[in-house]
Parts: sequence; C-alpha cells; structure tokens
Amino acid sequence: MANKAYKFRLYPTQEQEQLLAKTFGCVRFVYNKMLEERIQIYEKFKDDKEALKQHKFPTPAKYKRDFPWLKEVDSLALANAQLNLQKAFTNFFSGRAGFPKFKSRKAKQSYTTNMVNGNIKLADGSIKLPKLKWIKIKQHRDIPPHHMIKSCTITKTKTGKYFISILTEYEHQPVPKEIENVVGLDFSMNTLYVDSEGKRANYPRFYRQALEKLARAQRVLSRRRKGSNRWHKQRRKVAQLHEKIANQRQDFLHKASRQLTNRYDAVVIEDLNMKGMAQALRFGQSIHDNGWGMFTTFLQYKLEEQGKKLIKIDKWFPSSKMCSCCGRVKVSLSLSERLFCCECGFVADRDTNAAINIKKEGLKQLGTA
Ligand SMILES: [Zn+2]
Repeated sequence: MANKAYKFRLYPTQEQEQLLAKTFGCVRFVYNKMLEERIQIYEKFKDDKEALKQHKFPTPAKYKRDFPWLKEVDSLALANAQLNLQKAFTNFFSGRAGFPKFKSRKAKQSYTTNMVNGNIKLADGSIKLPKLKWIKIKQHRDIPPHHMIKSCTITKTKTGKYFISILTEYEHQPVPKEIENVVGLDFSMNTLYVDSEGKRANYPRFYRQALEKLARAQRVLSRRRKGSNRWHKQRRKVAQLHEKIANQRQDFLHKASRQLTNRYDAVVIEDLNMKGMAQALRFGQSIHDNGWGMFTTFLQYKLEEQGKKLIKIDKWFPSSKMCSCCGRVKVSLSLSERLFCCECGFVADRDTNAAINIKKEGLKQLGTA
C-alpha cells in the first residue's frame, strides 16, 4: 500500500466558514484540555513510570458531557486532536521533541477528519465532509479511481484562504529497480544541495527575490505601531508574501526531486538534521524556512513509487573533512575554506568532495562498492 496526498483550494459558504471556525476552535479547546489533564497526571506520576504507563488518559468523549457544544462539530476532528497529542507525547518520550505545547489562537487553523463508511464524497466541483455537507472545491487534478480516500485535513491560511489536503491510499507494489546510477547530495543552505557530480541545485531567481521582498516587508512591519491600521495592512502583506514563497519553494522542491528521481536509481543523503539546523541558525533563518525536510520527503516517495531508493547515511559521518580520493581525514576544516585540498594532491570544491563521500558511503550500504 502506498499513500499520496492531493491538495486543493476550498470555497466554503459563509455558513460553512462559521462551522469551520467553530471546528478549529473546538479542536484547539479539546487538545488543550487533554494536555492540561495529562500534565497533571505527568506531574503526579513522573517518578513512577509504571504508574504513568498504566494511567488512563482523557478522551474527547469525556469533555462532550461537560461542554455539550463540542457535539456540534465533527467528532472525528476531535478524535484526531487526541491522536495528535498522543503523537506529541510519543515524540517527547523518545527524545525527538520537546514537551507538548498548548495551541494558541494564533496557531495554524486546521483539523483532520477521516473516511468512515463513505462519509466523505468527491463529486464534480464539490466535496462532502462530515457536518459541513457539500463544499465547493477547485479540483485542478483528478484523483485516480483506485486511490481510496483515507483522511482530509482542512486548513485556513493567515490570509483567509481554505485548503484541503486529501490523503489517499492505493495498492502499489513497485518492482525494485536494479541500481545503476547513484548520486550523493550534500545539503547546502543557500542552494539546497550540491551533488557528487559537482552540480548545484539552485532556488530560482524569482524565489530569492521574493525572499528579499519579504525581508523588506518585515522590516516595515517592525517599524509600524502594533495594532494600528497601517500595521494590520502590512501584516496582511507579510502573510501574503509568506504564502507565495511557501508555494514557490514547494514547487521548486517538487521539480528538483522529480528530476533526481528520473535521472538516478538511488540517491544518498546524510540523515540530518543537525547540519541543516546549525547552518540555518548561523544564517539567522528559521528552521521552518529550510526546505530540506520537505525535499527529502518528496524525494523518498517519488523514488519509492518507481522502485528506487533513498539511502540515508549516519549524520556523524565525516563527509566534509574526508578526502574523497584517498580517504585521509582532516583534523580541521574551517568554513571559509571553499576548496578542499588534500596532501595526496586531490583538489575539489568543498561541497562536491563531501557529496562524493556521501555517495561512496551510500554505495557501501548498498553493498555495491
Ligand atoms: Zn587525499
């Protein structure tokens, strides 16, 4: 079984918008309530792990008794809030994430609902969702008939647009592809990656220009008096630019991953994200803006669809400091050294050298080196 998500714009009526707003609010409410209760349980049993494990956690059903208005919205959305909280705790306990946080009013407005007994239906130009009934959708591409809808996530952007992401599942058993062409990628903050053949992916110029425009708009916003009319106007402008940039980035990442998938049978990358995070922090850009995570997700499913492979190598592998020609490892390599020069006489662009090492390590894992 394989999964694929399709994203479309939604056009709710005023009445549907009200119900959507209520659903976003209820999901947040239930999430925060459950978190509050779990924190109390956690505090009480934190020294007794067994008791903590045994303890029953709150469910949305419990709150419906105390807050009957919760019944007005899609109950599956509330059930998913519970699952999301569960996931947040699992990540916390495994050390992958910090302690779960309360959702604020300013947080992303979204909820997920599931397909249960045909409650979700797609028809010409509209989609039927629990409680909302038929809602107008701009479906710019077809979902193949053998794709079964699993769940839908409805989101409202900061600029007031609505989107739906439809997750589908389908029977798919790709024939494993014989691996002949392999490429290694070295992550790069500015250009996304440098590959083992010395090629750089590069964000398109219009994207980089939009980033500059956003930085300017944010500076203007910071000078305006918070809460004033001009501040609100500018804030909207910043939000619109953010959205535009996010879309451009996503398009570019789709294209870049598509090209690699077409050209190679296996792609080797470092299992980040330490390096990416460190670079992002140094450049003062938020981790959120760094497309590497999204890129590797796209790359993985595109490769898998064709029976190809994404190989992740250990993030502690010394890809930068090792000579890809003779294997000597340098004691130190400063960031300003853009050229890698080895005692053996090998000279290469620093990132290309790293990408070649990544490829070699990947080949070792594949057992073909
Ligand atoms: Zn060397």
